[in-house]
Amino acid sequence: MKDALLWEKKGEKVHCLLCAHSCVIPEGGVGFCACRLNENGKLKTLTYGKSTGFALDPIEKKPFYHFHPGSAVLSFGTPGCNFRCLGCQNWHLSQSPRESKRAFDIPDTMPVEIAKMAVREKADGIAYTYSEPTIFFEYARDTILETKKLDKKKFHVFVSNGFFSEGMWKLSMKEKLIDAIRIDLKSFSDKFYREYCGARLEPVLDSIKRVKKSKIPLELITLLVPGKNDSAEEIRAISDFVASLDKNIPLHFIRFFPQYKAGDLGATPTESLFKAKEIARGEGLRYVYVGNLGGEDDTFCPKCGTKVIERAGFSVAQNALRNGACPSCGAKIAGVWA
Ligand code: SF4
Ligand code: SF4
Repeated sequence: MKDALLWEKKGEKVHCLLCAHSCVIPEGGVGFCACRLNENGKLKTLTYGKSTGFALDPIEKKPFYHFHPGSAVLSFGTPGCNFRCLGCQNWHLSQSPRESKRAFDIPDTMPVEIAKMAVREKADGIAYTYSEPTIFFEYARDTILETKKLDKKKFHVFVSNGFFSEGMWKLSMKEKLIDAIRIDLKSFSDKFYREYCGARLEPVLDSIKRVKKSKIPLELITLLVPGKNDSAEEIRAISDFVASLDKNIPLHFIRFFPQYKAGDLGATPTESLFKAKEIARGEGLRYVYVGNLGGEDDTFCPKCGTKVIERAGFSVAQNALRNGACPSCGAKIAGVWA
């Protein structure tokens, strides 16, 4: 167990300032995520060192389509999450601390070992993913700092539900920890967030605005759950919000498959994904993708329509960009391409 960052004392209790749940935790208790413990009036993190495994993934799998295409990222996560999504595809991992006292009975992999692994495996960067990096923030932070000692060029990307606090984001920016982030905008309905995720919409919108303001590369995904968040009105509301921030933010609509406590729902019909894409394009978004369909999606120049990146599954089959611009009309394509 390691001392946690971002908390304050509140009498006998501790107030965790890491995410928007803002838990006040009594002596001996844990927060909503079941990953942070009040031990003798001090907040401890239970996730530190507790990676559940590693994989070298294409960055397209996260998905990031506009950040170092074709690069390989060493990916890891720990048990736990600050959401309780009914259809979580990683529920064995994300919900285990709530379901078993032994969830963290796994051997330690310390940050310095991960940094060395990233060098050994020739990863271009590290992805903090699988569950929710917010709840293993101290572990991620130390991994980033250790990796920077060995190789400053490796980038660090968070794959997040966006429920982190302003304090976490400010610290990440101050220490230049995060190079790009992909956030789930799961719905535009607070009711959906409360009922389906055990969370709230507003803090996620605040995080997205905060990331945009800090100029860190950002991609968004919306998993379309049939009958829950896939109405034309909701897709339009999501698209309007994204367009109001920046029409260049890539937005991915992803196919849902029944899982966990949402096993009674069907998979997203393919036509719903293409309909969502059409609506988002109609609202002015320049880079809209559909995913989880097997073939994955290509990138087109928003000005002249030329295909600039062709993907085959999670691989880049062809990258026609010339210095980040369309080879036909020369229009700049938003992203980090080098
Ligand atoms: S990370 Fe969030 S859910 Fe977990 S204890 Fe802190 S405020 Fe609560
Ligand atoms: S935010 Fe992601 S990891 Fe967490 S419960 Fe929801 S789907 Fe699972």
